[in-house]
Amino acid sequence: MRDARAALCDYGRRVVERGYVVGSSGNLSVRDGDLMAVTPTGVQLDRLRPEDCPVVDPAGRVVDGRLAPSSETPMHLALYDTAPDASAIVHTHSVFGAVVATTREVLPAIHYNVLLFGGRDVRVADYATYGTADLARNVRGALAGGRTAALLANHGGVTLGTDLDEAFERTSILEWLCEVYVRACGMGTPRILDDAELADVEARMQG
Ligand code: 13P
Ligand code: ZN
Repeated sequence: MRDARAALCDYGRRVVERGYVVGSSGNLSVRDGDLMAVTPTGVQLDRLRPEDCPVVDPAGRVVDGRLAPSSETPMHLALYDTAPDASAIVHTHSVFGAVVATTREVLPAIHYNVLLFGGRDVRVADYATYGTADLARNVRGALAGGRTAALLANHGGVTLGTDLDEAFERTSILEWLCEVYVRACGMGTPRILDDAELADVEARMQG
């Protein structure tokens, strides 16, 4: 877990540098076998030391570390439980993601990059209070079918990856898509790619 905790600090700095979180919002985790290293609750993600990041068991009990784990630990554990390929999660309150999550039920396919998340749109999980089992369940539903990104109504976004590098890259792409969509809505009604256009891209990506 040494490398995992160091990686949480590294990517914690990056999400702050990119402006994807403000204050102590957002959280990241890495899974290693049955255990999960996660960012602590209430701490700015660019001020973390590896030893600040608690290690928890599948029930969310701290097995190593002094600080309390993120309030979103139930969501992280629930997502790993249903996504066997995922070993890292990034949750942010990025601005354009939060705007879309506050005004829409899905981020539609305004660009073929939406396919990178395993579906033809990105679903917005129904609102529930942060840190609750209800939120964990809603986000799990929004990721059903092997998707790797979701938005959280009136809250932010979450991405999965095989490692933090992949989860962070997906957060960057998700935020870019949300920004394009929000700006496009400001200029009129964005054209959404249709099923045939998306199927063509899927075939090209598979080839
Ligand atoms: P934590 O500081 O407990 O990780 O909470 C931040 C957050 O984003 C809650 O949704
Ligand atoms: Zn949050």
